[in-house]
Amino acid sequence: MKNQEVADLLNKISALLELKGENRFKVIAYAEAARRIENLSTPIENLYREGKLNQIPGVGQSIAEKIKDFLETGKSAYLEELTREVPEELIELEKVPGVGPKVALLLFKELGIKNLGDLEKALSSNLLRNLPRLGPKSEENIKRGLETLKRRSARIPLGHALPLAEELVQFLKQFPFVKQVEACGSLRRMKETIGDLDILVASREEEKTMKAFTGWPEVQEVLAVGPTKSSVLTKSALQVDLRVVRPDSFGSALQYFTGSQAHNIKLREIAIKKGLKLNEYGVFRVEDDKKIAGETEEEVYSALDLPWIPPELREDQGEIERAKAGDLPALVELKDIKGDLHVHSDWSDGTSTIEEMVKQAKAMGYEYLAICDHAQSLGVAGGLTWEKFKEQGKIIQEISQREDFHVLWGLEANILAEGDLDFPEETLKKFQIVVAGVHSAFRQSKEKMTERIVKAIQKGVIHILSHPTGRLIEKRDPYEVDVESILKAAQKNRTSMEINSSPERLDLRDLDCRKAKEEYGIKMAINTDAHSRENLSLIKFGVAVARRGWLEKKDVLNTYSWDDLQGWLKKERD
Ligand SMILES: [Zn+2]
Ligand SMILES: [Zn+2]
Repeated sequence: MKNQEVADLLNKISALLELKGENRFKVIAYAEAARRIENLSTPIENLYREGKLNQIPGVGQSIAEKIKDFLETGKSAYLEELTREVPEELIELEKVPGVGPKVALLLFKELGIKNLGDLEKALSSNLLRNLPRLGPKSEENIKRGLETLKRRSARIPLGHALPLAEELVQFLKQFPFVKQVEACGSLRRMKETIGDLDILVASREEEKTMKAFTGWPEVQEVLAVGPTKSSVLTKSALQVDLRVVRPDSFGSALQYFTGSQAHNIKLREIAIKKGLKLNEYGVFRVEDDKKIAGETEEEVYSALDLPWIPPELREDQGEIERAKAGDLPALVELKDIKGDLHVHSDWSDGTSTIEEMVKQAKAMGYEYLAICDHAQSLGVAGGLTWEKFKEQGKIIQEISQREDFHVLWGLEANILAEGDLDFPEETLKKFQIVVAGVHSAFRQSKEKMTERIVKAIQKGVIHILSHPTGRLIEKRDPYEVDVESILKAAQKNRTSMEINSSPERLDLRDLDCRKAKEEYGIKMAINTDAHSRENLSLIKFGVAVARRGWLEKKDVLNTYSWDDLQGWLKKERD
């Protein structure tokens, strides 16, 4: 089905005509035709073959010819002609708030500015203020516009996007004409960062749904409203696209808009081999165009002789082949988690008391919790001395008894620049659990950093390596470290790797988790590293990483029962 490609072409032509300053009606005609074609449920190739292009509302003789040319040659002579006068890149430039088509053309003609990079350079040398019709004020406006655009297009951490998506889904659910609603796209696949937020609604009342959506209190600006798709910008500068489909296509649309693209391409190939056609409207038999699935995702996969595949796996990383063989992993779930093995209290840099942390863990249905405060060698506020730790150990024991709950007395040791830990091994062995990680001297060479961590692991006292690569998403790259060498050392010393659930860390990342499991058989620990009781709930992000890393319950240390966990912690020491 080439409908989307044709719509994109017509939209492009419309934008270029507008840049050229062509007749307004012509500009609108192309955009309107694009919109109609985007929403067609029949493949445009069929209409063309049957000579019915003219019957599409909004498609006149002239536009029909452009479509014909494109369908026959795969190119558009008209588009090529237009781009000889106006470069296609200007379409992007025109979208900068404060620029628009007239100014974009002016910038191109006077200063040769073709894209955002050129514009940024010209702005930094204040070149715009001397152009005809512009001045320092419009220059300032465009500067701000470019900033907004950049913010808009930056990828957003899952930790910011997910709560917003959940809020919108709840908001939409209250309307009786909204039958089903789900976030899809990379958010549903729980990728660590996402671009735009995609929401899918099943409803028979499109107009009412769009009105409800644009009336969401978080909306800052309505970017576009159409009969089946609308876009808004939220107050936090996130773009949200909402699509409405009929309930009998909800499953196929959900599958389609969840992606990933690579996964969907593979599925479409399977469909073709079976004489089927798969798109957002359903699964159809090619021979008679009969729809055989579409209402649910399960139905769609089953029409292709596949079991339903969890969204986190849909990256074309072997999941389709494994599904075919009936060998998909049973991914770990939030309800499998029995405790958190790395949290802080107000004894070091946390903000909640041990008691508050414990109460929260109990409320979450956990069986155990490990208090792992920092030691003094780390410059952080309130790092503890050995004396202080001993005192804390007694208090932990008391709380454990009083609350009838397993509280582990641990620490998060610091791996110092040369690979030493805060305390001698004999002292560390007295703790019930030792978590350790790098918190300083990040700028070492790759060799040095790897050696440092391996040396620490080889001491044989670390149960869990915390935030193994030290990355902060979109802020700090991982420190240079050879993950393979770390995993090798961890395997030998039976050290567990942490999946740090903090949305700005998510470290180890999904791909390395899969490697740790499949190549080294390493157990992972999904921890929150919570510094307040509220943050214990961030565990869901770590579980998402684990699922994207193909981990099952048995691969995750903190799904163990208390007895099994104790056994594992002790055996480690022998
Ligand atoms: Zn840490
Ligand atoms: Zn920590």
